[in-house]
Order: sequence, then C-alpha cells, then structure tokens
Amino acid sequence: MPPVNRQYPVRAASSESKYSVMEFVREFPDDESCLQWLWRTRYAEDGMRAECPKCERRRPFHRVSARPAWDCDYCGHHLHPTAGTIFEKSSTSLQLWFYAMFLISQTRCGISAKQLERELGVTYKTAWRMLNLIRNQLMDDQEGEPLSGDVEVDETYHGGKPRAKALRDRTGNLDKTKRAVVFGMVERGGRVRATHLPNAGGVTIKRQIGEHILPESMIFTDEWPTYRGLDKTYIGHRRIRHKDRVYVQGDVHTQTIEGFFGLMKNGIRGTYHAVSHKWLQGYLNEYAWRYNRRYDPQSMFHSLALRAAL
Ligand SMILES: [Zn+2]
Repeated sequence: MPPVNRQYPVRAASSESKYSVMEFVREFPDDESCLQWLWRTRYAEDGMRAECPKCERRRPFHRVSARPAWDCDYCGHHLHPTAGTIFEKSSTSLQLWFYAMFLISQTRCGISAKQLERELGVTYKTAWRMLNLIRNQLMDDQEGEPLSGDVEVDETYHGGKPRAKALRDRTGNLDKTKRAVVFGMVERGGRVRATHLPNAGGVTIKRQIGEHILPESMIFTDEWPTYRGLDKTYIGHRRIRHKDRVYVQGDVHTQTIEGFFGLMKNGIRGTYHAVSHKWLQGYLNEYAWRYNRRYDPQSMFHSLALRAAL
C-alpha cells in the first residue's frame, strides 16, 4: 500500500460524494478565489483577456487592488465579476455565499435558515435571505426544455393540516381551495417540474400541461375529471382508477410523481416544519432541482455555482 498523505485528504473512490468539503476548501480558500472563479467563468477563461464592452474587442485586463474589479489595459473600463449576480448587492463575504451554496447542494432534504445561520455565523435574517435567493433564482428549472416521453401528471395539496376545521365547508367536505395546490409532472426516468398553482381548475391545469409537456408524449394521470380530453392533444392518455383502489395496471400508474411528492413532503416536514404559501415555490424548486440532477456527473455545488454565474 502506498503511504497515505494525511495532510491531503482525498475523496474515496467508493464515496457517494462528488465533491467533498476538503475539495471545496482547497478550491475556495478565501474571498479572492471565489471572485477569481467568477471572473474566469463569466468573463475571462484564461484569467487575463476579456471582451471589453467599451473597446468592443478582446483586451487584456488587470486586477484592481482596491475593488473587486478588473480594468481594461487600454481604456480603463471596469468589469465587476459579481455584477448582475445574486452576490452583487450583498455585504456578505463571497466565500460565505459559496459555502452556503455548498451546504445547500450537499444535503439531501435541504437545510433550514436556522442551520445556515449557525454554519455561516451570520444573522438569521441574512441566512434566510441567502437561502431564499439561492432557491428562487438559482434552483428554478421551469424554463428548461419541455418534458417528453412517458410523463406522469398529478396534483397534491400542501398545508392547512393544523387548521383542518377551517378547511371544511359547512357540509364538512374538505375545501381544497384553502390549501396550496402543488402540481407535478415527471418524465419516467427523467426530469420533474413542480409548480405552486393558484387553483386546481381545468384551465390552469391544462395550461401548465401545455406549457411544460411536448405533444409527442404519453400522459399518465389518475381518473380526476380535469384531466379529461388530454388524448386530443397528446399521442396518448392513460388513466388509473384510484377510486376502485387500483394503483398500478401494467405501465399505467402515477407512482413516479407520487414518489416525488412523498420525498418533498417528508423533506419539508422534517427540515422546515411549516412552509407558508408565499414561499412554497422556492421549496418546490429546491426539491425538483435536486431530483433533476441526481444522475449528473458534475457536483451539485458546481451546477449551482455555474447557474449563479450566468
Ligand atoms: Zn477597453
């Protein structure tokens, strides 16, 4: 066995990790390394030359010592690597921002603002703001290519449990309008979209399906009447009759999307306890984002950081 260098921990090949904390610390030991990374990723691949908007051509740039910026050697134009990113107007250290992205991408079920506050040593308000910006701006997958292939579609309801009485109408039936509608679509073996909808009306639901699923797809749903008529727009529509206690009939089922909903609900319950309707979409983004990258060879941290650099 070769001697092990204890001063240089290496990630075990058999580890599930794609990027360990030691690798993070080596890549981003300080604020300057984070700024350099943004500079190279956003403007100057070689760290030296970038497109100068004033000269309208590639020019050598030099680091300005007093500010987090680089200046054009020819015209003196400043380029700020944090301009237009979520880090731009923040007084929080860049390294703490990067470490927050690292922590969020490392967990399976998410991290609470309270824990982020403890890990980073920032105020609760700052931790909460960072978490929200990362969730809402970096983890939003809604704009990607529409889903296709075999796509399961289902809806679920979030919240309202503590005030169950208030959710019932005079006849004692559950008034679903008072709970948040979470609408989910998932490609079997592929990507998921989860959206907080204002209501579960037919028009709203069908617009979502039309926006996010290509017509050359096979749709799987339950027998809810709202889903009627999808066979006219899609190559096929198979429905499972949950009312008759049938859950799987050959390949006709909605187990994949129900599995995602289960994961999300357990995660929210375990990590965040209660989520108000106002912030629900951010949490949905987070769970969908993680699910969509479960097979990526790239570390979740780098995929978050690259999104931040867009
Ligand atoms: Zn210039």
